Amino acid sequence: MASPGIPAATLIDRARDVARHSYSPSSHFPVGAALISDTGEIITGCNVENAAYGEAICAERNAVTTMIAQAAGQTIAAIAIVGLKAAPCWPCGACRQVLREFNCQKVIVEGEGGEPATLAFSDLLPHSFGPEALGS
Ligand SMILES: [Zn+2]
Repeated sequence: MASPGIPAATLIDRARDVARHSYSPSSHFPVGAALISDTGEIITGCNVENAAYGEAICAERNAVTTMIAQAAGQTIAAIAIVGLKAAPCWPCGACRQVLREFNCQKVIVEGEGGEPATLAFSDLLPHSFGPEALGS
């Protein structure tokens, strides 16, 4: 389970669906992410690239910014990530830090055989820096 009542496979399916909306003319590497917030909302995002390469945003951060835009104060119970051309597709370093900011608990990717593989976030980014380090 990704979260109470939400199977990991459901989040993987949602991530795969939104990956088809990817705008990735540079990398040709479509990625989708589907997160479930602590309030039970499923929120998706895909990668969106730009002719100015540095302005690209990954699927994971796209989903996180949408989550915050919809309702401030939410945290992430789990996030599933699907790369249409690679499995497993783990989040990049920048996305790991952003997921950490919003207390992500689990990361779900597709295994090589297509089955969901779940990892505790603390295993994905151990000894991480987070907002509590600032004393807030
Ligand atoms: Zn990323």
